Amino acid sequence: MKFVLAAAAFLLGCDAFSTLSAFKPVTRLSSIADEFGIPCEDDCSTSTYKNLPASVHPGVVSGQALIDLLNHAKENGYAIPAVNCVSSSGINACLEAARKNDAPIIIQFSAGGSQFYGGKALNNKNFGAAIAGAVSGAFHVRTMAEQYGVPVILHTDHCAKKLLPWIDGLLSASERYFQDHGEPLFSSHMIDLSEEPIEENLEICKEYLGRMCKIGLLLEMELGITGGEEDGVDNSDVAQEDLYSKPEEIYQTYEELSSVSPWFTIAAAFGNVHGVYSPGNVKLDPKILGRAQEYICDKLGDAAPANKLPVSFVFHGGSGSDVADIREAIGYGTVKMNIDTDTQWSYWEGIKKFEEKYHDYLQGQIGNPEGPDKPNKKYYDPRECLRAAEVNTVERLGQSFADLKCQNILGLGPMNEATNVLGPRRGGLPV
Ligand SMILES: [Zn+2]
Repeated sequence: MKFVLAAAAFLLGCDAFSTLSAFKPVTRLSSIADEFGIPCEDDCSTSTYKNLPASVHPGVVSGQALIDLLNHAKENGYAIPAVNCVSSSGINACLEAARKNDAPIIIQFSAGGSQFYGGKALNNKNFGAAIAGAVSGAFHVRTMAEQYGVPVILHTDHCAKKLLPWIDGLLSASERYFQDHGEPLFSSHMIDLSEEPIEENLEICKEYLGRMCKIGLLLEMELGITGGEEDGVDNSDVAQEDLYSKPEEIYQTYEELSSVSPWFTIAAAFGNVHGVYSPGNVKLDPKILGRAQEYICDKLGDAAPANKLPVSFVFHGGSGSDVADIREAIGYGTVKMNIDTDTQWSYWEGIKKFEEKYHDYLQGQIGNPEGPDKPNKKYYDPRECLRAAEVNTVERLGQSFADLKCQNILGLGPMNEATNVLGPRRGGLPV
């Protein structure tokens, strides 16, 4: 039965649809908790949220539920934080932060982060390690997101031309997952061909969008170049004008991709830079996004949407940005902001503060200020420093959720205190 439904949806295709309502929603047929009989505090397979469209549910959302969630963000003036993760610990911190802020979250893996998730020693020939690492991370997110009760968009970050085999592998994984579950493994993927000529960028993106929308996957594409350096890609000396997209280019992209499917977002360049630099070094111009929306609405005429925001934008290089610029970009239809550098720092800073606090207990297995033969096991247990990293990251993400006005979206109220906690007692170390 499952297979028949999935196959029918697969054959639907999505060429030439011009409105979202023309899409058959991809039905969610099972949850991990159901499938494996994992007890859930709430009924995590069927829960919905009182403030959100009924399609949006706890766990990984894709297909129509994903579109409904992004539209809800656009209509209600918030953007969803998209955090790069490289470990299950980082993912758990994101899920905890989402639950504490009562909000959806986007968890994403870069190509390098995916390989790290699989293990740096594993041969990455044909991107095997990066594909397996991302699939492994996806199952972790799928399993745990339901337990935290929050909707999660599971995404992959920048994929340049030479990395396309990585995405090909992940698309194959999603297509197989779709056969059994009626939904893709991931929610969305980014393809970043901004270094290629725009014609080639659009041609390849259209090809991928055609394959992806058939199983309810959304495409994020990049126009113009994000400056700075991230995941080994260095754009710190590109021409200034390439850091700002033109309305005509955004319109051309909107038109061409819409001819395939409306399931795409655009990471347009408005002076964004990856990384954090001294204040004044980054000149963001969010008005570029507003001017593009106006330009496209003029071209669309009566076909323009009522909210006058035809494009869903993605904000790259958000770390270190002024909150006024962030809010302005949200007003122009930005529904997702990437956060990497700031949470890289918060994770490390948690470990740094932990080491500073317990320095004298962390210099050997035996011997500390309380005596030369006192054991230090409970201090160097990796759970302690990793938890310190998580707590610091949850706190930092709280600021991101606030900046993006992405708080109290779900209506779940405060998170319950954890019960039946095993392992090192929380707060068990001396102050
Ligand atoms: Zn980026």
